[in-house]
Amino acid sequence: MGRIKKLDEKLISLIAAGEVVEGPWSVVKELVENSLDAGASRIEVAVADAGFGEIKVTDDGVGMDVEDLRLAFERYATSKISRPEDLDALATLGFRGEALAAIAAASKVIVYTRPANVTTGWRAEVVDGRVNVTEEGVPAGTTVIVRDLFYNVPARRKFAGTAQSEWRRVVDVFRRLALAQLGPAFKLTRGGRLQYATGGGSSIRQRVGEILGWDIVEQLLPVSAAREEIKLDGFVGPPHLSFAGMGSVYTVINGRPARAKALARAISAAYAGWMERGRYPLVVIYLNVPPGEVDVNVHPRKEEVRFARESLVYEFVGENIIKALASKPAAATRPAARGQGISGGETTVWAARARDAVEGYLRRHGLAAVGEMSYDAVTPTVGATATATTPGETVEVLGQLNDTYIIVRRGRDLVVIDQHTAHERVIYDRLAKGAAGGAPGACQTLLLPEVVTLPADIAADVRACLPGLRDLAFDVEEFGGGAFLVRGRPADLDVGDIASFFRQVADDYAGAGRPDGDGRRSVLMKSIACRAAVMAGRRLEPEEMAALVADLFATSMPTVCPHGRPTMVNVSPKDLEKWFKR
Ligand code: ADP
Ligand code: MG
Repeated sequence: MGRIKKLDEKLISLIAAGEVVEGPWSVVKELVENSLDAGASRIEVAVADAGFGEIKVTDDGVGMDVEDLRLAFERYATSKISRPEDLDALATLGFRGEALAAIAAASKVIVYTRPANVTTGWRAEVVDGRVNVTEEGVPAGTTVIVRDLFYNVPARRKFAGTAQSEWRRVVDVFRRLALAQLGPAFKLTRGGRLQYATGGGSSIRQRVGEILGWDIVEQLLPVSAAREEIKLDGFVGPPHLSFAGMGSVYTVINGRPARAKALARAISAAYAGWMERGRYPLVVIYLNVPPGEVDVNVHPRKEEVRFARESLVYEFVGENIIKALASKPAAATRPAARGQGISGGETTVWAARARDAVEGYLRRHGLAAVGEMSYDAVTPTVGATATATTPGETVEVLGQLNDTYIIVRRGRDLVVIDQHTAHERVIYDRLAKGAAGGAPGACQTLLLPEVVTLPADIAADVRACLPGLRDLAFDVEEFGGGAFLVRGRPADLDVGDIASFFRQVADDYAGAGRPDGDGRRSVLMKSIACRAAVMAGRRLEPEEMAALVADLFATSMPTVCPHGRPTMVNVSPKDLEKWFKR
């Protein structure tokens, strides 16, 4: 270490820039936020080279006059707040006055701008910290061009992700902004190629279709409620539409795409009884609360907010999501892990009885924590019990519990089998055997080929998986523009709606780190197994159960599903003796 000296201005602004500008995506975020604050009705984002080459944002907002233009690049220069009280009720997305300064410190910036009511426009270029302004005839509004991001901060450039991962983050931030504000028309292009375009003045439904894909809109359940000056609108996905990360959860708070702990907790509590742990639903919700009740100033990039009445927001949002989920016919949903209710009567609607019952029973007896066993939910197999012979022993199916578990006597043991995970294991092994022997299952040609159109990012992952899908008996071809033509699918496996299957494939594949070769094949086989396996909540015939159980015990690894969840719990005579203190 050397002597202590004060940092010079240039170094100070570079360090500060590091907080605001993390990568191309944060430039896109700040510039689009500025356009929104400028009241734009049209916002176009053009990106080249994943944003490191050039980012250009054009709007038709109020523009800047020459004095404002000079000041705009100064640190802590803003037109949006002037008094401490203003922080208590922000009406704009920006307020700290540091974005343009930070971006200009880490890239080469040119701005063109003109207010609508004057005839002269201006061009400003920042060179070595100095703003050069010249007169220039330009359309009303503002265009900001950011070139060579991090050219002077090589360390930042080095730590940035690959072009593909940076581009994904740009897309994510763009989508969040376009979903947050329905008024303006948005456009995103990459290398001149159109990626997203929306209309202006959209309804929530229309915007969700334009941004997240029309194939998904039909499946969503509307949410709309108000209580004590708090308003909630939007859509929530059915539980069988699940994703690997929080990326599918879009929360908009007073027009700002932002996270809030109260919302995240409400969402996960609402789905807890329906979705496996670690999976997330598709949620697009808009919460409006009085401006004085949100604190936006808690995160350096304004991405997280807090509420004055956290628990009211939590309960209100959670209850209304539950209501929306409960409005869906039960058959279309998949009961899953233990449900922790939010509060009130609605909770019972979605309590996950099935798993709770069995888990609770086993836990009480020292196998695992607490619940209630409902014996009357056992569906006795009619007449003679079905039996299946597996290598070395006879297995007798005693019945089905809660339409979810198969109760089996195996030799002197009692075995409780989870029908879904068991079936997953069976299908996975069959696919694996076929793949290893170079003999995939038969492909069934569809009478009418199906066209599936997906948003650009999902399409990219599906594209990467196409060779693997073909090996697994899918006949698919890509058209371009996110469109896929499906001519055939595996003859003996029903993966359900093909568009949502492709989304699951893309999501599983991304969640696994986009492996290739065997890794990718394994991801695809797991996706297929999960989709084609019988759901929990379906009543099975005795013969179906016997066949499933026989198949399960004949697999390479009968006790766990391909995702690592257990397929069965075994209760031995020893366990029984211990429980009954014999
Ligand atoms: P903040 O948004 O926090 O005020 P910025 O550094 O992002 O800080 O912008 C500084 C100022 O420049 C803004 O307050 C605004 O007056 C002006 N400005 C920036 N972008 C635009 C734009 N697209 N249209 C009109 N004015 C803009
Ligand atoms: Mg700003």
